[in-house]
Amino acid sequence: MVDWIEGKITGKKHWSQALYSLQIDAPLVEFKAGQYIKVALDVEGERVGRPYSLVNAPAEQPLEIYFNEIPEGPLTPRLSDLEAGDRIWVSDKASGVFTLDNVVSRKHLWMLATGTALGVFLSMLKTDEAWGAFERVILVHGARNTGELNYDETIAALRAAHPEQFTFVTALTRQVHDTSLQGRITQLLNSGELQVAANADINPDDSHLMLCGNSAMIKDVRAWLEERGMHRHKRHEPGHYTTEQYH
Ligand SMILES: Cc1cc2nc3c(=O)[nH]c(=O)nc-3n(C[C@H](O)[C@H](O)[C@H](O)COP(=O)(O)OP(=O)(O)OC[C@H]3O[C@@H](n4cnc5c(N)ncnc54)[C@H](O)[C@@H]3O)c2cc1C
Repeated sequence: MVDWIEGKITGKKHWSQALYSLQIDAPLVEFKAGQYIKVALDVEGERVGRPYSLVNAPAEQPLEIYFNEIPEGPLTPRLSDLEAGDRIWVSDKASGVFTLDNVVSRKHLWMLATGTALGVFLSMLKTDEAWGAFERVILVHGARNTGELNYDETIAALRAAHPEQFTFVTALTRQVHDTSLQGRITQLLNSGELQVAANADINPDDSHLMLCGNSAMIKDVRAWLEERGMHRHKRHEPGHYTTEQYH
């Protein structure tokens, strides 16, 4: 059972196409970067709630979620209609173990995101914890086109703060663009283009990977990693990758 608390929308950004962020003022208890909350609206007498990763770092207020409007979805078309001042329900606790304390400290931390899963990694990268345990942190964002490559100011600030340690690579599936790789993340791993672009190999000794986003990317990358002797990380059995699936 979720205990709901009432929050208030304090900001909204329509980035492009169907992509939005909402900022929510709500008295959430402490959370760890990488965790998600549930967000809900009352629709025709029923409370419709869905999980959303937090984009803000634990030390930052307000809460922020980044989402895709799914026209046929019960919640997101209503979320994108909200404006500053509107009320929204949020769960009183954050949940999830897709966090940096569930990662093995190795030379390279790879963060692979599709679509709106970029947000969860931004929350982590805004904490000190992300920068203490790895020689390099490589964030890979897979999207359909450049219109889906948002949060550029946050990424520019991370680049400026960690110029040697941070690498950001984008991969587009439906547009050719000179600053992005072309293709799905798994294709680019298979061809080695991703590793070349990041100037880092992926192997059991040097790498931990965090995968977040759609099920196809997670399934394919998992298979690719398992073929190379890399296994899912468990609390009592250190491995090489952790996952969070959105859909
Ligand atoms: C742990 C967790 C964290 C999540 N965090 C986020 C987040 O930070 N941002 C976010 O946008 N979504 C996130 N999701 C998905 C989110 O909970 C909703 O499913 C989504 O926003 C659609 O809600 P809906 O009610 O409109 O439609 P739903 O009935 O939930 O879904 C309708 C259809 O849309 C597909 N779908 C769901 N999410 C997406 C998506 N992000 N992109 C494309 N298609 C999708 C579903 O597979 C389904 O076919 C998360 C899911 C989980 C399990």
